[in-house]
Amino acid sequence: MTAPASAPTVELAVRGGTLVDADWQDRADLFVSRGRIQAVVAPGTPLPAGSGQATEIDATGRLVLPGGVDPHCHVGFTSGDFTSLDDYRACTTAAVFGGTTTIVDFAIPRPGQAPIEAAYAQRAKAAEGLCDSALHACVVSWDGTTHGQLTELAAEGVVTVKMFTTYRGENMADEDTILRTMTTLRDVGGMVVVHCEANHLIEDAQRRCAAHGGVGADRMSFTRPELAETASVAEILAIAESARAPVYFVHQSTASSVELVAAARRRGLPAFSETVAHHLVLDEGRYDGPQPERFVCCPPLRPAAAVRELGRHLFTGEITTIGSDHCCYDLAQKRSNRHDVRTMPNGLPGVETRLPVIFSEYVVGRGLPVTRFVALTSANPARTNGIHPRKGSLRPGADADLAIWDPTLRWTLTAPDLHMATDYTPYEGRTVTGKPTTVVVGGRVVVDADRLVDPTPRGRHLPATRLDLTPTLDPRLPNPTRQYA
Ligand SMILES: [Zn+2]
Repeated sequence: MTAPASAPTVELAVRGGTLVDADWQDRADLFVSRGRIQAVVAPGTPLPAGSGQATEIDATGRLVLPGGVDPHCHVGFTSGDFTSLDDYRACTTAAVFGGTTTIVDFAIPRPGQAPIEAAYAQRAKAAEGLCDSALHACVVSWDGTTHGQLTELAAEGVVTVKMFTTYRGENMADEDTILRTMTTLRDVGGMVVVHCEANHLIEDAQRRCAAHGGVGADRMSFTRPELAETASVAEILAIAESARAPVYFVHQSTASSVELVAAARRRGLPAFSETVAHHLVLDEGRYDGPQPERFVCCPPLRPAAAVRELGRHLFTGEITTIGSDHCCYDLAQKRSNRHDVRTMPNGLPGVETRLPVIFSEYVVGRGLPVTRFVALTSANPARTNGIHPRKGSLRPGADADLAIWDPTLRWTLTAPDLHMATDYTPYEGRTVTGKPTTVVVGGRVVVDADRLVDPTPRGRHLPATRLDLTPTLDPRLPNPTRQYA
């Protein structure tokens, strides 16, 4: 209950709030020392001797959550003719305003660039961030150097590798390359993270759309059918099972894809489902509206019934993580090729809105336990990226990254009030309940009452330790227990 007698000076105390971790919640105070959580103590516990100068945050009526970990975030991403508009500083500024204190970016190689070169270039940018970041490497094709590159990257703590089954001629990898990458990563304690959409089915759908009705932004959902996703997930699961290799599926947009992964997991395969906020909240009706280009993302938004079915799996435990798939294009970029989804930039800005939107829709709106919210948006992403319990946890020893959350505050999402490097949000005008009102990074208050109070870049690249895949294999809901009786 109390800090050890030899405890170092406490610099920050968070008092009066309800602490919520992935598997417990309780009224408690939290002490921070040297940027880390030093102790979780009974409410009102005096500070240790010598801590007279500690900053105190009154969290009465608020939740104290581990800062969000966004497992899927594209920073300054170039695809085709377009580059998304943020850098580490801009992206992490938006992240902390939204209660996210760790982002996981992707190092997608440019044509002719080696995966390791792309990863080291992206890793060097971490220091520009207002919070810490981790990295997924990416393999597109296999050559005599790939095995050595993956082994070296693993030694450097980059053990998750993105692969695509779509975007022919750009990022698409063939099945041999996926198998070899999976096998190599299995042997070095890593994991492939896959964007699954069967490219042949998508190209066929696009051809048919081009002949009948067009390939404009309003036709988005017809150009990338659900079947393309399900077919590709089944294929990649078969490769992973054959190789006995762990696998993580990014942005799964349908319940049937999630269920394929869940079935494989029950057969013993370490296989994980990520969903992203917009697929859990928005539906394809947006493509019938006046500005469908605002909602063009891959996979596309799905029918309302499919969104409900997907959301149901937040409660069954079959979904492992919720990311943002943040990709910060502005309206000029989204509009420029809106007549042809094959060439317009895919992706939605979302690093700042991920937590508020999911909290409002699912915790407030549908009764998702707040512990489960923390598991999905913070603890599990930290686990599958090998940065838990340093991140995504309120346990003593964890980095003191905190989102102090007002669960009742109602506010309206509108682009001018957000901090992402773009001029729109797909949630424009949406009123949500719940907001991070104070955000702490490494023991320092960075955001307070809608103001950036510490803009100093202190971002660090987080090398992965061994991936923690076992806890996330258990799909049961965490059972909140009284931790500090
Ligand atoms: Zn993505």
